[in-house]
Amino acid sequence: MSEKKKQKQKPGVREARLSVLLAEDEESFIDALQIGLRAEGFDVTVARDGVEALQAFDEGSFDLILLDMMLPRMSGLDVCRSIRGSSDVPIIMVTAKSEEIDTVVALEIGADDYVTKPYRLRELVARMRAVLRRRAAEPAAEEGDGFEVIELADVKLELDRRRAMVREEEVHLRRKEFDLLAILMENAGRVLTREVLIDRIWGSDYIGDTKTLDVHIKRLRAVIEVDPKSPVMLTTVRGVGYRFDGKAPNA
Ligand code: CA
Repeated sequence: MSEKKKQKQKPGVREARLSVLLAEDEESFIDALQIGLRAEGFDVTVARDGVEALQAFDEGSFDLILLDMMLPRMSGLDVCRSIRGSSDVPIIMVTAKSEEIDTVVALEIGADDYVTKPYRLRELVARMRAVLRRRAAEPAAEEGDGFEVIELADVKLELDRRRAMVREEEVHLRRKEFDLLAILMENAGRVLTREVLIDRIWGSDYIGDTKTLDVHIKRLRAVIEVDPKSPVMLTTVRGVGYRFDGKAPNA
């Protein structure tokens, strides 16, 4: 594979204030976050329940969404799922300690990261900036700009168009899933360590925990493997990392 040129033609890191949708129902959090985030340079729009959050999302234009897991009328998970049906806007879930199982689900359905209450404003802002930075660094999909294709075993990736085909059928992969699969396929036959994968996909400033990687691998297997419980393409090298086995027989 030739080296992919990463030209950042996007407006990219804007100097203008960034706009955040805060979906939260606890007034004490709302007050503190409005003040804190505004001081950090964010414009804040508040939605106090899940339905209001979706309405605000449809009507507005946001750089990032802070989404409380437990919201009246519609849960944060359902809001996240609904938004992901149409948008890749960065989403950070806000959870309570007791909701950690939901956190895994949230990552599976496409949330970018999560913070657990109680958190400090500084931690939250660091995560927001990290998510926004990673997003800005991602190359924009360019239409009709030639094809860069990787095809191995049952999987074909069109890198420029960010299209994935499995056994001749187009499948939907989320942004990070696509990036992860592309890196593994570009290095087919080689083991990539967890550290390398996390660094390449989430960036060296990633401060979440490593189960995020496992969640993405699991999702990828569910999409590409004939039997996700006995993967033959995306294999685990215990204690080290993961490997894409390009010589796996087509099923
Ligand atoms: Ca809540």
